[in-house]
Amino acid sequence: MMKLFPQGLFLALTSATLLNSNTVLSADYKVANQQEYAEALSSIDKGDSIILANGVWNDFEILFEGKGSKDQPITLMPETKGQVILSGQSNLRLAGEHLVVSGLVFKNGYTPTSAVISYRKSKQKLANYTRVTEVVIDNFSNPERFENDYWVAMYGKHNRFDHNHLEGKLNKGVTMAVRLNTPESRENYHRIDHNYFGPRPILGSNGGETLRVGTSHYSLSDSFTTVENNYFDRCDGELEIISNKSGNNKLIGNVFFESRGTLTMRHGNDNTVSENVFFGNGVDHTGGIRLINKRQTIKNNYMEGLAGYRFGGALVVMNGVPNSSINRYHQVEDSFIENNTLVNSDHIQLAAGSDAERSAVPIRTTFKNNIIFNDNKKDTFTVYDDVSGIAFENNVLNKVEKPTIAGGFVSKELTMKRADNGLMYTVGEPKSVGVSQSLKPIQKNQVGVSWYPKPGPKKVFDKGQIITVKAGIDTLPKAVASAKDGDTLVLSAGDYSVSRTMVLDKAVTVKAASVIKPLNVTISYQRGALFEIQHGGSLKLQGLKISGSESPDSSNNRVIRTVRRSMLTNYNLVVDNVEVVDLDVNHSFTFLSVGKGTFADNIEITNSHFKNITGYILALAEESDDDGIYNAEYVTIKNSTFENVQGAVLNFYRGGRDESTFGPHLDMSGNLLSNVGNGKRNKAEAAVRLQGVQVTSIKDNEFKNTPAINIIHTVGEPRTRIEKNRFIATPVPTVVELNSDEENTAIIVDNLVKVK
Ligand code: CA
Repeated sequence: MMKLFPQGLFLALTSATLLNSNTVLSADYKVANQQEYAEALSSIDKGDSIILANGVWNDFEILFEGKGSKDQPITLMPETKGQVILSGQSNLRLAGEHLVVSGLVFKNGYTPTSAVISYRKSKQKLANYTRVTEVVIDNFSNPERFENDYWVAMYGKHNRFDHNHLEGKLNKGVTMAVRLNTPESRENYHRIDHNYFGPRPILGSNGGETLRVGTSHYSLSDSFTTVENNYFDRCDGELEIISNKSGNNKLIGNVFFESRGTLTMRHGNDNTVSENVFFGNGVDHTGGIRLINKRQTIKNNYMEGLAGYRFGGALVVMNGVPNSSINRYHQVEDSFIENNTLVNSDHIQLAAGSDAERSAVPIRTTFKNNIIFNDNKKDTFTVYDDVSGIAFENNVLNKVEKPTIAGGFVSKELTMKRADNGLMYTVGEPKSVGVSQSLKPIQKNQVGVSWYPKPGPKKVFDKGQIITVKAGIDTLPKAVASAKDGDTLVLSAGDYSVSRTMVLDKAVTVKAASVIKPLNVTISYQRGALFEIQHGGSLKLQGLKISGSESPDSSNNRVIRTVRRSMLTNYNLVVDNVEVVDLDVNHSFTFLSVGKGTFADNIEITNSHFKNITGYILALAEESDDDGIYNAEYVTIKNSTFENVQGAVLNFYRGGRDESTFGPHLDMSGNLLSNVGNGKRNKAEAAVRLQGVQVTSIKDNEFKNTPAINIIHTVGEPRTRIEKNRFIATPVPTVVELNSDEENTAIIVDNLVKVK
């Protein structure tokens, strides 16, 4: 440990006031290892700093405890910002008061405890008046997908978390939580500002919120937390981006960029949501603000290009439950929705969630001076119950023909123009309507830190080198092993024999040099699987013929499988112009099987042919715990044929009653299924079995001599359309509502049924 008196003295002389006789001269302790840190901490005093030497600090659980003062805080900082890396099993706990931590980077590891940064040492020893600033947490995720932790857990009072960069939380658990679980943490006046909340991928389960303030248990307590000028970039974890669950918070001036989900005023009263800007750019399930509870204010917010619907709409006012328990839905009362602008956003939902339980309609609520503009003049309102408790005044609509709500709206031709601040304003309308002209949405480069790069657009495949591969024995596994993430392997015509399972911990494209029919690249293999997708892996196949004829004579072979254990990263699988034949050496030979706890963002089969297969094509039914977890967000099967397949083309399962996810989704069109699903080992007992799928489109397919499509609706008002299919010697689809006595909501139209 080096005690830098000259510098400390210098700092003290220049920064502290010499007139104050209580002022202690401050010191800087530069430390190079954990022992030196502990020694420095034991002698630290007001105004002192501990400086961590540049480099990687592995397995360092930092306890930063001390008592600074308002004018002389105690500081923990790196020698150089961004050059102190906390890796391995590391974390940070703060306890005491007037502490400042800055400039650290957590990456290449995860916390062994329940939080990476915790504003407390123990239940009794909390942090107050402390600040964490310019800290980076990058992919510091527990390797077990469903192991729950926080990245930031805020306790105590008067703490600040600002200008930090949080990116890539992959495991379950809220990224940042404000905890109110003891009186010492309520009415906390915390400030969370200017942070960069970077991309958080779809979790495929509850527990993927980015920021939560409070919990239902203490939600009738005031938190007095300010969440201001933060940037939420593609925070897609689940339905709630921000889950506000306490009273008297201010959520102001935040920007939500292409983030799936909503700012949800889930529990607690007297909150203000203002000057927030939502840019959806038409991305699926991008939403705005969801209103529940009493005396809430939604004012001066801007929403554009939000595609979300139902609870994920651009603006959602919920119905409550009469005499609601603390964790259900309190009625909307005495609330204000004023001066908001909604541009090209698809859905405004009023009295949403109305059902036998949620029957308490919004009351004494004002909807005033809002502008709702859609290029297509579509009416974006859906009203689910009596909304006479909402007073509509002086709102402007872009010439909607027959508006759902007539009173309180002027419907006229509107012209809109984008202003310098990036937002659209009406031309020629009074400025008292819609969002304020002076609103300046925070920019990405004004949040987080300047010295750590923010991620750009995401591209999975074909972003690296193009590598030519010649036909022969094990030329392909060699090329796959040496490929880098995003590389494209281009296969010359000929036969490829593969003697080992090719492990993918990167995204690789394997494609034929020329995709001509008949396909001139054939791959056969001698192990139980051709590819195994592991952490970091994704696969795109194009223009290939894959044969199972050389596969071992044992059951349960696969073409592609994921690791059998759970997997932290989401993967993508694209299969285009591929012919898969003769998966029939033994029983249950399946094209894709997945492990429990694995999740695909996207599985796509297009223009492909599958023939003579003893197992399934896509077996996505491993999440048997009924916790609302599932194996893939989007499955697309288009313009493909499936002949003599003993298992189902798709067995897709999401069990349980949780409503925190948007998926799964299925889009299946233009396919031919002939003699599919008739095998005695087909557990799906269907050609296509869907349980708990939220969005389904099955269109223009021909089903010939197959068992029925079997659909089970569980929760969440699933959208199912089965149209323009031909069912030949195939029973009509069955749809069952598992948790509702009402008639099923599937739309089954224009299908042709023939006996043979
Ligand atoms: Ca949730």
